[in-house]
Amino acid sequence: MNISLEKTCSLLEAANNVVITAHVNPDGDAIGSSIGLGTFLEEQGKNVKIVICDKLPRNLSFLHGYDRIQRSGDAEAFKDVDLLVILDTDMSRIGNLNELAKNAKTLNIDHHISNDQKADYLYLAKSSATAEIIFDVISYMKAPISADVAMALYTGIATDTGFFKYSNTRSSTMMAGAKLIEAGASPNVVSEAIEEKPLEIVKGQIEALSTLEITSNGRVAGMFLDYPLTSSLESTEGFIDLIRVIEGVEVAVFVKSVEEKVCRVSMRSKGFDVSKIAMKLGGGGHIRAAGCTLYMPLQEAKTTVLKEISDALESAK
Ligand code: 5GP
Ligand code: MN
Repeated sequence: MNISLEKTCSLLEAANNVVITAHVNPDGDAIGSSIGLGTFLEEQGKNVKIVICDKLPRNLSFLHGYDRIQRSGDAEAFKDVDLLVILDTDMSRIGNLNELAKNAKTLNIDHHISNDQKADYLYLAKSSATAEIIFDVISYMKAPISADVAMALYTGIATDTGFFKYSNTRSSTMMAGAKLIEAGASPNVVSEAIEEKPLEIVKGQIEALSTLEITSNGRVAGMFLDYPLTSSLESTEGFIDLIRVIEGVEVAVFVKSVEEKVCRVSMRSKGFDVSKIAMKLGGGGHIRAAGCTLYMPLQEAKTTVLKEISDALESAK
């Protein structure tokens, strides 16, 4: 059921035992919004657990609250849960929490147009980031924002907007950023932590760039990482941004083989709707940033995704 901001706040206010989760392959918004909401609710006297069923990126460990995130849920954790809050995704990308929380009431707070609308309660907003929605929730409740909450929410907004520069950056986004700085967020601490990379990653970018292919008459740029290269890299966060900026490129695609027959696909565009392509391939996302997982070897994944992009570009003519 789609609900309003007001109803979202009243559900959160009424709950005492809350479990918060976000999507697998978590990014700055998934983790920032989870820690931000979790810390805030705890400050309001509630029992809160944060469970994200995947590896957490190490560069977000500067956030207070990072260490308390559980990597897997157990039945015990869900015994007396009043509310399972799912952030920055729908119910399809939260690992095995669906089964564990079978009897829990679910509140889904998200900003992805591809949301499957299966939660009991869904607050879907056109905000830049889920963290911006959490900022709206706290503001609506007229509650104070602590420095830890401010840092987490600022991080979520900054990572989803490319530090306040993508088209999802609206005046309300900037206002939220300003209020979060007033509440104690430090923009330089966030950007240094997010942008700093181990030397091996920079070297990995060189190798990744050597796989660059330009297709569809210069409209598509792709990078394709085989399994040995992918598994030698701790993270490929931001790799797609290296090719997104190429002049004339409308769609950038980054495919990495995470297992011999499993490939993760990321797409970015300058306005062309890549979420439709991702949804067709079983994934989802936003108009300008979307992704999916293809269960096939790298070469087949590459051919498949390039064909879908080329077909989509052609049929949009
Ligand atoms: P990224 O390329 O950074 O992994 O993801 C870009 C955007 O697409 C993010 O908002 C992310 O949540 C969404 N996305 C990526 N992969 C998937 C997927 O497999 N399924 C869905 N529904 N969304 C995805
Ligand atoms: Mn997000």
